[in-house]
Amino acid sequence: MNLSEYDISNPYPATLIKTERITPEDSKVEVRHLVLELPEGDFHFVEGQSIGVLAPGPHEFGNKHHLRLYSIASPRKGEAGKPNTFSLCVRRCFYIDEISGEMYPGKASNYLCDAKPGDVVQITGPYGAHFSVPADSKSNLLMVGVGTGIAPFRAFVRHIYEERGGWEGRVRLFYGAKTGTELLYMNDKVKDFTLYYDEKTFKAFEAVSPRPAFDLPPDVDRLLLDNRQEVWSLIQDPNTYVYVAGLQDVAEKFEKAMITMAGSEEAWRKLRTELVAQGRYSELLY
Ligand SMILES: Cc1cc2nc3c(=O)[nH]c(=O)nc-3n(C[C@H](O)[C@H](O)[C@H](O)COP(=O)(O)OP(=O)(O)OC[C@H]3O[C@@H](n4cnc5c(N)ncnc54)[C@H](O)[C@@H]3O)c2cc1C
Repeated sequence: MNLSEYDISNPYPATLIKTERITPEDSKVEVRHLVLELPEGDFHFVEGQSIGVLAPGPHEFGNKHHLRLYSIASPRKGEAGKPNTFSLCVRRCFYIDEISGEMYPGKASNYLCDAKPGDVVQITGPYGAHFSVPADSKSNLLMVGVGTGIAPFRAFVRHIYEERGGWEGRVRLFYGAKTGTELLYMNDKVKDFTLYYDEKTFKAFEAVSPRPAFDLPPDVDRLLLDNRQEVWSLIQDPNTYVYVAGLQDVAEKFEKAMITMAGSEEAWRKLRTELVAQGRYSELLY
């Protein structure tokens, strides 16, 4: 859906209550975990939804709004179980102007990363329901993400283990970042996901870029192929739900690995069509 089609007529004032850098200070990439609080009311969300952020102007070309979407990283009962709160995982973006060669900060992401506790951010939504949690807790969940694509999975995993009290099916997270320190919520600084390593049904697999100095994306396809037996048995199980999140590149890498496992592009297409038709394949890509 085009950004201009999102309903932004009813923005909510969200107060930033916490902002924390979750990549190390010496890392080239700045990603922040932001916790926002809403006035008590009717803002309800579920895992896998996104919110809109209206970055204040002035904007180029007379545009009234600069709207960007961010995945909610908290489960439905709020951040740390606190109602009316939710978190975001935001990467500070920069862009190189192709003509001048100059680097410019991305508007919404820099606005969010620069915000201080107490600042009020106008948000809209929530939008989408890309990822829904299966009703049957014996279902297997195969999650594949890169970078800030981890946000909806953080919400998801917290929901099933903390809010629903556990999960019986296999939960497998295949996650990648450029370097080990950029493995969000899993690096030495912030270890959110390690909380679940003790859960009998949860397992995380991590990939980093083959040569991070050259800014190559992480080898998620290699990671999936290295764990082919596990992944393929999950994909073929009619009780498995597949979720892919993050930059477009992650979907391409997932496809590449699946084509290899399926034996041909045609075989994978057929399987993928079945998964989609049965509501067992969801993507949240940007
Ligand atoms: C469903 C969804 C969920 C998302 N979830 C997350 C999330 O959880 N975390 C997250 O960090 N991001 C997320 N994003 C991405 C996010 O919405 C923004 O796209 C991102 O933060 C960049 O926005 P910005 O306003 O900072 O940059 P913008 O100012 O919008 O710049 C973005 C684009 O404008 C162009 N551009 C901007 N400035 C220049 C310039 N000076 N010269 C040339 N070109 C330029 C570039 O083409 C660039 O692609 C999500 C996106 C979607 C669609």
